[in-house]
Amino acid sequence: MNAFSSDATATSVEACRRADQPPLTPGSLRVLVQIQEMKVGQDENYIAFLNLLASHIWEAGDATAVLAQVQDIILAARAPARPCTVHAWCVETGDHFEHYSKFIEAPTPDHFGNPVLSAGLTDFRGTTIVGLLDLDLTPAAARIRIAELRTHLDNVEALVTTAEASAG
Ligand SMILES: [Zn+2]
Repeated sequence: MNAFSSDATATSVEACRRADQPPLTPGSLRVLVQIQEMKVGQDENYIAFLNLLASHIWEAGDATAVLAQVQDIILAARAPARPCTVHAWCVETGDHFEHYSKFIEAPTPDHFGNPVLSAGLTDFRGTTIVGLLDLDLTPAAARIRIAELRTHLDNVEALVTTAEASAG
């Protein structure tokens, strides 16, 4: 690494150039001085980043391309995550191979606060699966389970009717 003091000037920076490094453009000299000034009071990670940036500029001789690359990296990191291109229901973003929907559950948790009847979709191998009752179901199998649950709720409601009739 080319080392120079924190009160560096363009002249003193240029004096640190190794023989195997290309001449620095005037703009790059200014950037290297600014990088040196930016290190003051920063933590070691940021200083390591600035040192890496400076070393690339030393090797290139010109800061323009290096700074453009850094800007591209920062912009890419800030860009909103790319939505799933396979399923509209998938909540995963960016590159992924396991697709998940948002999971839903009954509005009322059980007595212990646990979710009731949580359900969602997954696709791990090119087939959309319904997750229900801790099972991985085909859509057809899920419909059968749902019909059973509807019947069960009707039976539960019949119990309530019985309770009302025998109240008092
Ligand atoms: Zn997906």
